[in-house]
Amino acid sequence: MISVEQAKKILAENSERGEITEKSLGECLGLTLAENIYSLIDVPSFDNSAMDGYAMNFDESNRTWEVSNIIQAGDTSEINIAPGKAARIFTGAKIPKGTNTVIPQELIAISEEGQISYDGDKISTGSNVRLKGSQSKKNSLILEKGQVLGAGQIGLLASVGVALVKVFSPPKVGFIVTGNELKEPGTPLKEGEIYNSNGPMLEALLKESGVKQIQSYRAADDKESLQKIIDQALTENDILLLSGGISVGDYDFVKECLNTAKVKELFYKIKQRPGKPMFAGKKERKLIFALPGNPASVHSCFIQYVRPSIKHWLGGTAVWEADHTLEIIEDIPKKPGFTHFMKGKKNGNQVELLKGQQSFNLQAFATAECLLELPAENSVVTAGTKVKVYDL
Ligand code: AMP
Ligand code: MG
Repeated sequence: MISVEQAKKILAENSERGEITEKSLGECLGLTLAENIYSLIDVPSFDNSAMDGYAMNFDESNRTWEVSNIIQAGDTSEINIAPGKAARIFTGAKIPKGTNTVIPQELIAISEEGQISYDGDKISTGSNVRLKGSQSKKNSLILEKGQVLGAGQIGLLASVGVALVKVFSPPKVGFIVTGNELKEPGTPLKEGEIYNSNGPMLEALLKESGVKQIQSYRAADDKESLQKIIDQALTENDILLLSGGISVGDYDFVKECLNTAKVKELFYKIKQRPGKPMFAGKKERKLIFALPGNPASVHSCFIQYVRPSIKHWLGGTAVWEADHTLEIIEDIPKKPGFTHFMKGKKNGNQVELLKGQQSFNLQAFATAECLLELPAENSVVTAGTKVKVYDL
C-alpha cells in the first residue's frame, strides 16, 4: 500500500495533456489557453464618448455653444466641429474632430433659441472622453498561456477582435457504475436495493471539472458483462472512471477485468480514509481510475486524484497542491498510518469539521465546502494545527 503523496507523485508523472486545438469563443468556456493572446487592435479603436451629452472644444472662457451636429453610436463619418459649436453625442459615439470634451446632458442648460450652456465646475478639458487604446494597445499582451477562460476573459477576447484561440482540448471521460443493488432515483426500491448516488455525483463532478463529453455506463456484478463494458468504454474515452467492485469481495471483478483489458496498474490501495482500495492504471495515453463504491470514497478520491489529473489534461499547472492551509478548531482523533480526508466548512483562517464523516454517509455534503487532509502519522490532530484544505 502506498501513501497519498506517493499516489499523487505517480499520477503527476503519468498525467497527460490534451491536444492543442483552435476553438471559437463559443466553445472555449472553462478551457485553458495554450498560447499568449495579444490585442489585434487598439481598444477603444477611436476616441469615444462615455456619456450621452454634448461634445465641444472645452475651454474655460467660453461656456455657450451652438449645436451643429448629431452623432450616434456606430456613425463612422468624419465630422468636424467648428470653433464655438458643439455636437449632440451619445455614449460610444466617435468624438468628432474639433472637440475634446463631453458634457453630460444632465449638466447642460438649453436656451429657448437652442443654444447650450454649462456653468458648473465638474468638467475640465478631456472629461468623459474614452481615449483610443485606453483599454488595450494593439499588440499588447492581454491574456497569458495557462489562463482558464471564464465569461470575463471571453468578453475581453471578443473586445480585441480575437475569434479563435488555441486551447487544450478537454478529455472524453466515461464512467462505469457497478453494483447489482443499484436503482435509479425516481424508481421504487425493494429492500436490499439502494439508489445510485455515485452516477449523478460523478457526472456533476466531471462537469464541475470542465469536462464536456461525458459517457455513462452501467454494469452488473458479473465478469463477462463488466468485461464487455470496460472494453467498449476504453475505446470510447480518454479517461475512464469506475465506481465500486474494486475491493476484495467475491463479486468485485473490476481489477481482474481491467487486467484482462491490458490496463497497466499504476497503483492499487492507498493509505487513506475514505477510499483505501482505489486503483489507478494506464493504457497508452488513457488514464483509468477505479474508485471504491462508497459515495464518500468516490467523492474524496475524485477530488484528490481524478480532478487534478483532468485539470492537468486541460492545461492546468500546480493542480496537485492544496487550495488553503487552515487551522482546525477541535482535536480530531484518527487512525495512525492513514491520511484522512474529511468534509469541512471554512470560516476565515479556520476550518470546521462537519458531523457524519462515515464513508456511506452523504449528509455532510449538504453543507460541505471543502475536504481537509489530516496527516498519516498522527493518531490525533490537535486543535490549532494547520491542515491542507481542498475546495469542493
Ligand atoms: P463496493 O465498492 O462495490 O463494494 O461498494 C461499497 C459500498 O458502496 C456498498 O455499500 C455499495 O452498495 C455502495 N455503492 C456502490 N456503488 C454505489 C453507487 N453507485 N451509489 C451509492 N452507493 C454505492
Ligand atoms: Mg459493489
